[in-house]
Amino acid sequence: MAESMTPGRGTAIVWFRRDLRLSDHYALLRACRDYDRVIPVFVLFEDAFSQRGKKNSDSWPLGGAQRWWLHHSLKQLDKSLQDRGSKLIFRHGDPLQEIPALVKQTGASAVLWHRIYEAQIAGIDDKILKVLEAAGCKALPHRGDLLHEPDAVKSGGGTPFKVFTPFWRSLVKMGAPAEPKAAPGKIPAPANWPKSLDLRDFHLEAHAKWAFSIAEAWVPGEAGAKTRLRAFNDEKAARYVPDRDIPSINGVSRLSPHLHFGEITVRQIWHSFHDATKGGFDLRFEPYRRQLGWREFARHSLWHFPDAPRAPMRAEFEQFPWRKGGGISHDLKAWQVGLTGYPLVDAGMRELWKTGWMHNRVRMVVGSFLVKNLRIHWLEGAQWFWDTLVDADLANNTMGWQWAAGCGFDAAPYFRVFNPVLQGKRFDPEGLYVKKWIPELKHLPLKYIHAPWEAPEAELARARVILGETYPKPVVDPAKGRELALEAYETMKISRKTSK
Ligand SMILES: Cc1cc2nc3c(=O)[nH]c(=O)nc-3n(C[C@H](O)[C@H](O)[C@H](O)COP(=O)(O)OP(=O)(O)OC[C@H]3O[C@@H](n4cnc5c(N)ncnc54)[C@H](O)[C@@H]3O)c2cc1C
Repeated sequence: MAESMTPGRGTAIVWFRRDLRLSDHYALLRACRDYDRVIPVFVLFEDAFSQRGKKNSDSWPLGGAQRWWLHHSLKQLDKSLQDRGSKLIFRHGDPLQEIPALVKQTGASAVLWHRIYEAQIAGIDDKILKVLEAAGCKALPHRGDLLHEPDAVKSGGGTPFKVFTPFWRSLVKMGAPAEPKAAPGKIPAPANWPKSLDLRDFHLEAHAKWAFSIAEAWVPGEAGAKTRLRAFNDEKAARYVPDRDIPSINGVSRLSPHLHFGEITVRQIWHSFHDATKGGFDLRFEPYRRQLGWREFARHSLWHFPDAPRAPMRAEFEQFPWRKGGGISHDLKAWQVGLTGYPLVDAGMRELWKTGWMHNRVRMVVGSFLVKNLRIHWLEGAQWFWDTLVDADLANNTMGWQWAAGCGFDAAPYFRVFNPVLQGKRFDPEGLYVKKWIPELKHLPLKYIHAPWEAPEAELARARVILGETYPKPVVDPAKGRELALEAYETMKISRKTSK
């Protein structure tokens, strides 16, 4: 808590946003310590990024899968608050109006919250801060859920980092983050509560058409996050490498949606790797800690390059000849619903639809397939992920897609086109992942599971596969995808040279 420590008795509002937990919650702890009464509030602001459907713009309203998650996470948070004699006040609308109105209604003398490192949200925060201060109410933003603030991590020349490895080295040198703090035992309640909507009035669940299958895969909320972390530390961390690259193995933490909604902090995860009995950091966790570094790097990048969600970070990609017109919508749809005819790609897209999550290795493969083999704009992929991922996160999603498309600062070189067949053979060698998500291929011999079009007629018949009927033929010629991608790249380079 770097902010001013001057206590101020009276009523404080704790404004919950993407910090839906009670433990390691700086704003809540400080409010409980310094104020007589604490009013927790959540404001659903759907218009913050509402330009849905407009490409190349800042159109990132809450996605369908996220809405489902948010509903359940808020429900859990409200319950935990009630267990401590408090509750969550639900409001709907522009926080710039809602928060000052709540201050007026409750006579609160302070509003406390955590920063979110996204330019649009930071812009809203600045405005609220001014409005509150003008009204004589303390505005107390606290540092958000990062190991270190994005402005604190700088290269030798004082500029933001563009490449991960030096960024990570510099971050590690800054030392461990603060120890996580326990939840407050009791949260002092006001004598009279302000009006609140019912959570159901947000209609968050109604948007997730596929909520039933997502619900089988997840337990949103702080308790669910802690259970996942424990299970990971006890059962999976020791085998994170090599298991983390095999999508059929449950070898990763699946903490991403919990981290996105702030049900657990990166500080809590980091410190869970310290084994007091061994007197320090357990080195088995190092590769995992590095992944948290990628999360940190994505936030650092978004903070310093706020245009990244809509424009390529490498300017030369402005000239990239993305496919236009005929056939795009057919191919995009085939990709979205897992019917491209490439089993690993289709398995990933079906896993996403069914569970709201996709394994990282497969995210890279489906991303590469969309932007390179199909040459469809990376924003189409980013927006589909945005709507269907429970962990949809502006920083991580943007960096993931800019990486896949080759247009991010620290991206895969464009000419590195993932071959979905080879990736399948390498990372799903038994075909287990494909068989799980594409049951219509489950009788196909392993030799053909990642390339059914290579199977002789007799084998297809034995496996009851009719290409083009029970499972699609490849949407793009397997021999041509890479070639066409590289041609497009050359065109971009030529048009760049001539426009100079
Ligand atoms: C095209 C594409 C889009 C992506 N979109 C998102 C997204 O919207 N939200 C999201 O959280 N991640 C995204 N990722 C990154 C990564 O795939 C997920 O974070 C990871 O699969 C989540 O599963 P996990 O929690 O089991 O990961 P673990 O392997 O257990 O890693 C632990 C945590 O480290 C962080 N992390 C891991 N890999 C990355 C990475 N490459 N970049 C940034 N942070 C990382 C995440 O917070 C993750 O929860 C995307 C990757 C790609 C290639």
